Amino acid sequence: DTIGVSLDRAVRRWPDREVLVDLPSGRRWTYARFAADVDRLACALLASGVAKGDRVGIWAVNCPEWVLVQYATARIGAVMVNINPAYRTHEVEYVLKQAGVSLLFASLSHRTSDYRAMVSQVRGACPELREAVYVGDPTWDALLDRATPELSAQLPSLARELSCDDPINIQYTSGTTGFPKGATLSHHNILNNGYFVGEAIACTERDRICVPVPFYHCFGMVMGNLAATSHGACIVIPAPSFEPAATLRAVQQERCTALYGVPTMFIAELNLPDFAEYDLSSLRTGIMAGSPCPVEVMKRVVSEMHMAEVSICYGMTETSPVSLQTRRDDDLEHRTGTVGRVLPHIEVKVVDPATGVTLPRGSAGELCTRGYSVMLGYWDEPERTAEAVDAGRWMHTGDLAVMLDDGYVQIVGRIKDMIIRGGENIYPREIEEFLYGHPKIADVQVVGVAHERYGEEVLACVIPRDPEDPPTLDELRSFCEDRLAHYKTPTRLRVMESFPMTVSGKVRKIELRQQPHQDH
Ligand code: ATP
Ligand code: MG
Repeated sequence: DTIGVSLDRAVRRWPDREVLVDLPSGRRWTYARFAADVDRLACALLASGVAKGDRVGIWAVNCPEWVLVQYATARIGAVMVNINPAYRTHEVEYVLKQAGVSLLFASLSHRTSDYRAMVSQVRGACPELREAVYVGDPTWDALLDRATPELSAQLPSLARELSCDDPINIQYTSGTTGFPKGATLSHHNILNNGYFVGEAIACTERDRICVPVPFYHCFGMVMGNLAATSHGACIVIPAPSFEPAATLRAVQQERCTALYGVPTMFIAELNLPDFAEYDLSSLRTGIMAGSPCPVEVMKRVVSEMHMAEVSICYGMTETSPVSLQTRRDDDLEHRTGTVGRVLPHIEVKVVDPATGVTLPRGSAGELCTRGYSVMLGYWDEPERTAEAVDAGRWMHTGDLAVMLDDGYVQIVGRIKDMIIRGGENIYPREIEEFLYGHPKIADVQVVGVAHERYGEEVLACVIPRDPEDPPTLDELRSFCEDRLAHYKTPTRLRVMESFPMTVSGKVRKIELRQQPHQDH
C-alpha cells in the first residue's frame, strides 16, 4: 500500500478516535479531521505547483504541522526531505541544494534558532527553492487558502497513479559518525516497517504514544507516526523538542500507554529530582532505541516507569529503520540484554568485516540486513550507496553484533568506535555497562584516545550523580579491579556536565575523542 491508502483505511475504521494531540498548543485531531486537514494541505501543495517526485523540505521542531506535511506529501507522491532542526545555514544550504528542494516548510523560531532569518540568508544560493512557508505564520494560512474543491476532486485519481515503490522520503541519518547521509525511502519501505514495529509492541487503537523524539528522525516519523496510524493509535507531542519534565507530564495528563525515547532521554527522565511525583501508571510499553540501551536503565524503566512490556529496537535510517526488536513475551533477560530477534520479512547475518564470510553464532562481526526495508539508495550518491548496499542487496550496517544460539542478537558497538589498545580489541559498550553500576555515576561514555605506546587507551567520560562529589580515577580503577580485565580498565577520566549530542539524542563519540584533554 501507499501511505495514503493506509491512512484512508485508518479513517474508515477509527474516524472518531484521536490521532494527534499537541500539548504545547492544546490542539487535538481525530482521524477524520486529520485526514481532512491532510487533504486540504495536499491540495494546497498541488495548487502551488508541487508534483509527484518534487522535493518538499521540512525544517521544523515537533508540532502537528510536521505530521500533516508528512502525510500530505505522501498523498500526492512528493518526496519529503526531513531536515534536522539543529542545523544552521551551512548545513541547511547543503541539504536544500543536494536534494533540490523546491518548497520548504519551516518553524518560525525555537530557542536560539531563527529559522526565517536563516532561510533568508541561504535563499539566494538555492535557485531551486521557490517558496518557504512557516508554521504558525500567515504564509501557512495563505498556502492553505490555495486549496480548491476542483483540486480535491483530483486527489483520488492522483492516488491511483502512485506506486508503493516510489520514493517518498529523503531521511538524513543522525550524523553521529560524520556528515549525515540522505537515505531515499519508498512508501513500501517505511509503511511496512512502521506497521511491523507497531505490531511487535501490540499497538492498537487504545494506545496513546508519547513521542518526545524528533519527528525529523526515523524514530519519530516511522516508529512513531507510521506505527501509530497503521494501528489506529494516538500520537501525543509533549513539547517541540525534548524536555524530560514535559514528557512525564504528558504521560500523566494524557494517560499515555507507551513512551518512546533514546536511552539518554530515559536516563534524564529517571534522574529528574521530582521523578517519583509523576503518575506513570497508565504506561504499559514503549520503545528504547537508537543507541546501546544499558541493562541498568532498562531495568529501571521496567520497574519504576511501569513499562513492563518495554521493547528495544535496533535499526538505522537506511533500513526504514528497524530490523531487530524485542517482543513483550521475551523474558526480562533477553529484553534487556539483547536487541531481540529479526522482524518478519527481514534477514540478518553476521559477517567477518574483512572477508565478508558469514560467522558462526556467538562470534562478533559486522551485522548485515536485507529485505523490503533496505533503502532505495543515498539520494544522488551512487558510490556511497554501493559502499553500503552490496550487489546481493545486503545493507552493511557498520555495527558489530553477535547472534546468540537462540537467534537473539547483541549489538557490541560501532566498528568505528572500537578501541584497539596494544593489539587488544576493546568494545566501549562493555565497559560502559559495567561502569553504570558505580553509585556515583549517572551516565558514562567510553572512548579511545591516542596513546604513544599502546596506540589507544581507554578514557571514561562521566556525568556524576552529584556534581559536588564526582568519582575519582582511583575510585573507578578500584571498582574495576578484579572484575574487569586490566587492559579494559579506564586509564583516564573526564568528569562532564553533559555529552555532545545529536538532535536524535545520540552521543557524538567523535567529539569526545577530539576534545582537548583536561583530565582529572
Ligand atoms: P550516521 O550514520 O550519520 O553517522 P547514525 O548511524 O547514528 O548516524 P541513525 O541512522 O540515526 O544514524 O542511527 C543508526 C545507528 O544507531 C545504528 O547503525 C547503530 O549504530 C545505532 N543503534 C540504533 N539502535 C541501536 C540499539 N538498539 N543498540 C545499539 N545501537 C543502536
Ligand atoms: Mg549510520
